[in-house]
Amino acid sequence: MDAMEFLDLVERHAREHPEAEALVTSDGARMGYGELWSASGGVAALLAREAARDGRPAHEPVMVYGHKSPLMLACLLACLRSGRPYVPCDCHSVPPARVRAIAAQLGSPVLLAVEPLPPEALADGEGRALAADVWDAEKVARAAALSERPDAGLAVSGDELAYVLFTSGSTGAPKGVEVTAACVDRFMPWCVSIMGLGVAAGAPRRFLDQAPFSFDLSVFELVGALATGGALFSLTHATQSSMRDQLAALDASGVYVWVSTPSFAEMCLADPSFSASLMPRVETFLFCGETLTNACARRLQERFPAARVVNSYGPTESTVAVSAVEVTPAMAAAPDPLPVGAPRPGTRIRVVDERGADVATGALGEVVIEGDTVALGYLGQPALTAARFGSATLGGRPVRTYRTGDEGWLDEGGMLHYHGRIDLQVKLNGYRIELGDVESHLAQVPGVKAAAVVAATRDGRADHLVAHVVWEGERPSSDFELARDVKARLRSSLPHYMIPRRIVFDDALPVTPNGKVDRHALAEELPRRGARGRRGVGGGAA
Ligand code: AMP
Repeated sequence: MDAMEFLDLVERHAREHPEAEALVTSDGARMGYGELWSASGGVAALLAREAARDGRPAHEPVMVYGHKSPLMLACLLACLRSGRPYVPCDCHSVPPARVRAIAAQLGSPVLLAVEPLPPEALADGEGRALAADVWDAEKVARAAALSERPDAGLAVSGDELAYVLFTSGSTGAPKGVEVTAACVDRFMPWCVSIMGLGVAAGAPRRFLDQAPFSFDLSVFELVGALATGGALFSLTHATQSSMRDQLAALDASGVYVWVSTPSFAEMCLADPSFSASLMPRVETFLFCGETLTNACARRLQERFPAARVVNSYGPTESTVAVSAVEVTPAMAAAPDPLPVGAPRPGTRIRVVDERGADVATGALGEVVIEGDTVALGYLGQPALTAARFGSATLGGRPVRTYRTGDEGWLDEGGMLHYHGRIDLQVKLNGYRIELGDVESHLAQVPGVKAAAVVAATRDGRADHLVAHVVWEGERPSSDFELARDVKARLRSSLPHYMIPRRIVFDDALPVTPNGKVDRHALAEELPRRGARGRRGVGGGAA
């Protein structure tokens, strides 16, 4: 099997330009290519050696718990080099109970804790350990300093998994999307081309790295930067917690390629200083993960007249993104919503009806992705995998297919237009949330008899979550206090972005004539935001 081209490129940059920076964080940490390659080699060698000693299966996923730091990046590469897919868990986005749920699904994994892991994250109800082996940051650092190297033949390749990303699952348990080394390698040339670059371009650039590594949007800059000999400019959680610090970091960033959700760019646009004078080098704004509004594209074009604005689309299940379009000023100025682009080479996008038959050009239907970057499926969930994934032939070759649950239409030029969801998944500041996930965690709160969660929308986009809760019997305290207690309870098991902003206590939930919760009756459309409105700091994932 061919070696993973992405890893070969990183090795080549490390050999040819060991001093060139691979990662710089807004907190001042940095790591060059030479150091990255040697640190990841040390960790990979020890991972492989200990796995052999303990008789652990080849290719088993390794959890990596941490944040934006040189060691974290080295650990991600180390997993690949040791033949193991990495499972990234950002310590600011994945709460202990979610870490526990992931570890339980992986079945006693090895866990590299680059950041301190809360003890409750790794024990089940009876206090039994859920991870086979936890490396703390000291052990990771010791391994990174080893001069030992893994056998190059160990590295993941072809249809072996490169990473497993856990996303919100509608039943309350996160689901792990299995992305192979071949998916990443096939995604890579298209990824760099839509950034206006070429693989191994030899013109090192800095790439904005804002989304946590546990979200697939970050794979855009991870692959884009490391394949081209560029550097990640990572905005840490601490920096993103203050708008002032964030703008100062962007000012000093020297970023050429901007990758984020539109929400994150909108938050920056709320500050008048966010313009080409602050970031004169930006050549490309690359967006994915949620709707890019015409207004956002227009404002970016006004403030950064020399930069390209690219809208891309795709789910984690098909390796980050599968379509893209450069948004021209004319497109941004037109009254029609922006398209999400034409498919990459190797992908066919179909729009189908309920029976799976193609609808006519211009007609609405479910978006199905067929191609060579579609993931294997959901880890350990054959039924769910079979329900969403399938196979087809493209250009005479077998490829995987994925039913996205997105509604859209294709125009005559082959451009895809996104039109919302056909299910209960929402995007909030770029974060993917199954409303059923939040509802099932609410249902576990003692006293909750029934719950329905809806997204309050503004300007056609989710603004925040509202939970409607029916309480069993008398409510023990004021609605305000009870809402506060319920939120505190949810915080222990759900990521921060899944906590409803408002909890409304109802005597009963409205139902449709066929007995289902009437979500339309609960839906809220908020007034348009004034020109001076702004979002809170810290939004944006993938
Ligand atoms: P994720 O797996 O977190 O990347 O989320 C994938 C989902 O985000 C897609 O299925 C869409 O619903 C939504 N999405 C991705 N890109 C776009 C886009 N450019 N415009 C609108 N929605 C998008």
